[in-house]
Amino acid sequence: MKYRAILMFGAPGAGKGTQGKILGTVPNFFHCACGDVFRNLSLESDIGRIFIEYSSRGELVPDEPTVRLWRQYIQNTTQSGLFNPTTDTLILDGIPRNLQQAEILDDTLEVRALINLHCPDVKKLIKRLQRRALRENRLDDANLEIIRNRQKTYDQLTKPVLDFYGKKLVHNVDSTQTPVKVLSDILRVIAKL
Ligand code: ADP
Repeated sequence: MKYRAILMFGAPGAGKGTQGKILGTVPNFFHCACGDVFRNLSLESDIGRIFIEYSSRGELVPDEPTVRLWRQYIQNTTQSGLFNPTTDTLILDGIPRNLQQAEILDDTLEVRALINLHCPDVKKLIKRLQRRALRENRLDDANLEIIRNRQKTYDQLTKPVLDFYGKKLVHNVDSTQTPVKVLSDILRVIAKL
């Protein structure tokens, strides 16, 4: 059985997590942010150390441990009853994040839509990340060089995933709007699925 999923897309700072969290509070939706799964790991674990090594440079964690960790997380939340694959739709935030991950997960996900939070104003994104660095104590948001590297990683590796799923599934939402307007645009898309 495949997991029904809506993919949240957008550069770092576009608001995937903000919107994903809200959508996850709606019954029959389950928000899963790959970055949060990583950040909750113990730094004593091998995968926790790998995460720090790559994310502190603004790079993606290698695919094999990433997908393994994600599958484990989905199994755990299913077993604990937080996520019910028969009734719930996954709001996936941060995975798949490159073409290889999209291919690996092709037989696992039934992708219903991609919400592409686009933001042409890079300066705005950087300001959002720097504010978040203070609020959430995120090392990868604190340093301008790391931020720029994450944006480059997004452009080079993550954006091609949009083409992998094709135009029909992609819904562009202007992420420079206020959070409530962004949410309203997303809900309009999701309500029709
Ligand atoms: P943002 O979207 O602002 O970059 P995330 O919390 O989604 O923040 O991701 C933080 C970091 O976690 C990424 O820069 C990357 O190093 C790692 N990461 C998250 N998801 C993945 C993934 N699917 N594949 C590889 N690395 C990932």
